[in-house]
Amino acid sequence: MIFPVPKPRAKRKKVAPTGRPRTRLKNRNARRKGRAFGASHVDEAYLDWIRTLPCAPHLAMGLEQRTTTEAEHFVSKAHGGYDRGDTYPGCGECREMRHGTMGPKAFTRMLKARGFDERALCKKLVVIYESEKFPCP
Ligand SMILES: [Zn+2]
Repeated sequence: MIFPVPKPRAKRKKVAPTGRPRTRLKNRNARRKGRAFGASHVDEAYLDWIRTLPCAPHLAMGLEQRTTTEAEHFVSKAHGGYDRGDTYPGCGECREMRHGTMGPKAFTRMLKARGFDERALCKKLVVIYESEKFPCP
């Protein structure tokens, strides 16, 4: 048997201890500049410097580079990567291979098997960049 139950009273709007009503996250947050990650630490000068270099995987394997160099994030911004320290020069072809046909893990494994360490290169590039831009007095 079903017992008739009175309709529950409307819940009061939840209010945070600060007095502000708790609401859903906005689609665009001006402080985040519309992005969840990375907007506050874009190092455009470093990325421009990276783009002046030849494609690292192509150079390491002795192949001819056919597309322009782009800044490739070894650790993506969504995974907490930075521009300075997690980026190396890669061409459009390598990017297509890394993100399209192979996937980043397989691409890294393929390069490792050929004796090319992306992570080490990222770290080395920062040292070169900083010694170029900020030489010791
Ligand atoms: Zn390449």
